[in-house]
Amino acid sequence: LFKKVSLDARAPTTHQTNGKGGGTVKLVGCGPSDPELLTIKAFKAIQDAQVLVYDRLINQDILTLASPHVETIYVGKRCGHPSMKQEAINALLVRLAKEGKQVVRLKGGDPFIFGRGGEEALELAKYQIPFEVIPGITAAIGCAASSLIPLTHREVSRSVTLVTGNVVTGALPAWSGLVNSGQTLVFYMGLEKANEIQQGLIKNGLKGETPVAIVTNGCSDDENIHTLTLNQLNDAAKKLKGISPALMILGEVVNIRASISALISQSVEFSV
Ligand code: SAH
Repeated sequence: LFKKVSLDARAPTTHQTNGKGGGTVKLVGCGPSDPELLTIKAFKAIQDAQVLVYDRLINQDILTLASPHVETIYVGKRCGHPSMKQEAINALLVRLAKEGKQVVRLKGGDPFIFGRGGEEALELAKYQIPFEVIPGITAAIGCAASSLIPLTHREVSRSVTLVTGNVVTGALPAWSGLVNSGQTLVFYMGLEKANEIQQGLIKNGLKGETPVAIVTNGCSDDENIHTLTLNQLNDAAKKLKGISPALMILGEVVNIRASISALISQSVEFSV
């Protein structure tokens, strides 16, 4: 994998601060599961890392791309034990960099989409640690591609909104805003809140017949795609309980998957 990559990197984009001791941190987006969705920049950062800090969503194959001498630190959930608190992860990154290490913080998807990458960047800036953010393919983009659901489509959807399932508990008076957009919605971390999401959207005027896709373990060998309607969301979520990670795509664009599949299964003759 990636053996032939030898492109010259462009000038480094590290946000240089007054850091002393040579340590740096790269917040690296790893995309959803499939290691081949890494960018070349992410791949190079992983190869050059002295320490990898990672959690649950990172495919183990990505770790094998690093040097055999790399130190790995797992900060995710472990058999019933909760993940390391975000403040502790922030402090860990600062400490490792102050020790002079080249640290790579691996993030599922993109660091700045529901990945708390912003919090880590703020902490690193606060302590004058040189850092860089390397973008990754966020789950919505990866799952849309693998499930053949274009998130925007001419005359069907002109916008897409990425929403966290925590919208349910958060301060956002968000439901009506989401429904008014009348376009594609993608819910991250939403399966456990399916009931509230279904009620909230329908109460605010979204049709119960709105098509929905739930993509579990997107972009991996275990990927599954379930298509249903908003009316069926809560029942479907109950059946899928415990399967993680899962992403929900809502909107008329979900039907395009079936249209593409139908065409693929037909044999079409072209005459030139
Ligand atoms: N920073 C990540 C999101 C982290 S929040 C990104 O940009 O993708 C974690 C949530 O992302 C999960 O609860 C799930 O909703 C979604 N997710 C991440 N990877 C996924 C995958 N491979 N398949 C489906 N959903 C995924």
